[in-house]
Amino acid sequence: MATQPTSLLQDVERVHIAVRGAVQGVGFRPFLWNAAQDLGLSGWARNTSDGVEIELEGLSIAQFLGRLNQDAPPLARIDDIQVKALPPEGSDGFKLRSSEAKGAVTTCITPDMATCDDCLADISDPTNARFGYAFTNCTNCGPRYTITKALPYDRAQTSMADFEMCAPCQTEYDDPANRRFHAQPNACPDCGPQLSHSIADIKAALQSGQIVALKGLGGFHLVVDATNEAAVATLRQRKARDAKPFAIMVADRWSAVSFAEMSPAEQAALLDQRRPIVICKALAGAIAPSVSAGLPTIGIMLPYTPLQHLLFMGENVLPALVMTSANLSGQPLVIDNEEAEEKLGDIADLIVTYNRDIVVRCDDSVVRVIDGAPAIFRRARGYVPAPIKLAQEVPPILAVGAHLKHTICITRGDEAFVSQPIGDLEDLGVAGFFEETIAHLTSLLDVTPEAVACDLHPDFLSPRHAEQTGLPVIKVQHHHAHIASVMAEHRLAGPCLGLALDGFGLGGDGASSWGGELLKVDAAGFDRLGALAPLAQPGGDAAARAPWRMAAAAFHALGRSPEIAEQFGEQSGADVIQAMLERSVNAPETSSAGRLFDAACGLLGVKATASYEGEAPMFLEGLVTKPEIMPDGWTIDADGRLSLLPLLEALIGCDPERGANLFHGTLIAALVDWTIVRTDAPSHVALSGGCLQNRVLAEGLVRGFKAHGIETYLPRQVPANDGGLSLGQAWVAAQTFTTAGG
Ligand code: ZN
Ligand code: ZN
Ligand code: FE
Repeated sequence: MATQPTSLLQDVERVHIAVRGAVQGVGFRPFLWNAAQDLGLSGWARNTSDGVEIELEGLSIAQFLGRLNQDAPPLARIDDIQVKALPPEGSDGFKLRSSEAKGAVTTCITPDMATCDDCLADISDPTNARFGYAFTNCTNCGPRYTITKALPYDRAQTSMADFEMCAPCQTEYDDPANRRFHAQPNACPDCGPQLSHSIADIKAALQSGQIVALKGLGGFHLVVDATNEAAVATLRQRKARDAKPFAIMVADRWSAVSFAEMSPAEQAALLDQRRPIVICKALAGAIAPSVSAGLPTIGIMLPYTPLQHLLFMGENVLPALVMTSANLSGQPLVIDNEEAEEKLGDIADLIVTYNRDIVVRCDDSVVRVIDGAPAIFRRARGYVPAPIKLAQEVPPILAVGAHLKHTICITRGDEAFVSQPIGDLEDLGVAGFFEETIAHLTSLLDVTPEAVACDLHPDFLSPRHAEQTGLPVIKVQHHHAHIASVMAEHRLAGPCLGLALDGFGLGGDGASSWGGELLKVDAAGFDRLGALAPLAQPGGDAAARAPWRMAAAAFHALGRSPEIAEQFGEQSGADVIQAMLERSVNAPETSSAGRLFDAACGLLGVKATASYEGEAPMFLEGLVTKPEIMPDGWTIDADGRLSLLPLLEALIGCDPERGANLFHGTLIAALVDWTIVRTDAPSHVALSGGCLQNRVLAEGLVRGFKAHGIETYLPRQVPANDGGLSLGQAWVAAQTFTTAGG
């Protein structure tokens, strides 16, 4: 933040101040008004296309600037302050002028924010008009992105348009001293949205073990008592295809630590006003076993809407509620009231809606503390659409991501806007949501992309969309994009060494399957310095959900394929897999690190079959107690290929816990050794790819590289998995496009 030293301003009587950043719709102008009143300053303030413009006259301008720096409203983000001295005009009073409409809209809508302490006090106070009111909000909190159809951010452009403010609400809205001054979703029980059921009815349903579909900010949740195993098991059974762990919501931090072991950093992440789900270690026996589906971790969040707070207030309160996204497997989150009746009727015993529409689907965000700081696993509510600041201005690019955990990214100036996850693009409903998100985000940002970036994979829907735009298409190799996403968020210039440890991405040759890559990345391209020694993937993609098949591939690579049919006798088709491997039929090779993890899981009998990609490695990570290194567990050949075959052979017949320690410890040591052998003493390495969501692996690599004086950069603001890919694609395309276009 750039401000002139206050000493220069001692004698200045009138100044012009330009504030740039996310300062609109966040209570910034009432804050200015109150500060000017307090300090006896006259002048005016108004919104501009890129922030707020202020003119001040009086003797306490330095104090005003001090407040601007220190006491700005919690949701405001100030990027820059420019102060210019002016001759005094002798103005009288401080006025808020109407907005400057000319010029491009360069401000952006802010993300949805959790209920603030003042609003929480309002709904808790029996004498307050908003006592128990589920849609209470103010300029410091409440819905934004999920209710906004278009900019400028005015009530008429939101799904609050249908609700006419009552006289008391209008008075608050018009009063610059009130914290609801220009709060677009301002509402009270007399004039605002209403719930379909009373809080008492919802609580009673939950108390009796029923499953409730509850309309939230960015979509419906399925809610159930998290301490009632029968109820949670019923939810799992009705949501048949979903084997993923459920997140829980608890009243506060004190309650959270009774369900999970939480470090101070994890508690801080939980209390963040964006209210993400925080993944931490579950305390044994505290919660119904079906919640975490057998994993030792649990995802916890705190209430972030008045409606959710009300479920934890008063009588008949349950200590923990399962709060899982109400979407059918592979489909986008349900947001519409009728759609909820139609799609959730078979799952939920009670469907609770309200009469304000959700305009934008937005799931809960997920973080995990890695190496002492939060790393985002799913970037959605509370974070989107806040931009990621880039090192420099870039041309406007649309990046369309890859295929799984899909996000899109749009650049504007020196900012990159990454969307919430759209889902896996196989599903038709998801394809519609994909188009919708591109249209919505480009219009909100008022950007016309000049080029479009996509993956190399021809079968993905996203490159097809890229071709249809008619814009220049820049194809970016998958792991190049993974590393570039880390370079973009940490503002690293190339060349930069990158280690991509991932599930699957099409190789630079457009044919092979990559996923364990050592790359040297710069502005225009990358060099592949090495890769994991390939393993066959019998049955192709299907192997991602059958770790035992990757274990069979390890047997084959070890020259022990005749043992496969017997070793994996309890799996159907083990003999077929053996034949596939021996004849090299439908067994394409892959250098994927994700598949290497699967092989280890298969060899150790940890989740021989998985219901989603990455499930088995999550269980393997959960078994680690103390990583152990097998000194001769790896080899590096002259072509730079790192083979872990000696390690894999040692895992055959090994105890799963010992095997998990051995696999993690040895893999970490091998990756560090390999990187050093293949490069001449790099100063830093960027780490990315889905496997980096494994905390043991990520923290082990950080420490391992540090021991050799090498600094590491981890994905923090965007996910390590394919959810962060669009940022990397946009960054690469922006560099290439600048270079090509001049
Ligand atoms: Zn509030
Ligand atoms: Zn009202
Ligand atoms: Fe990937």
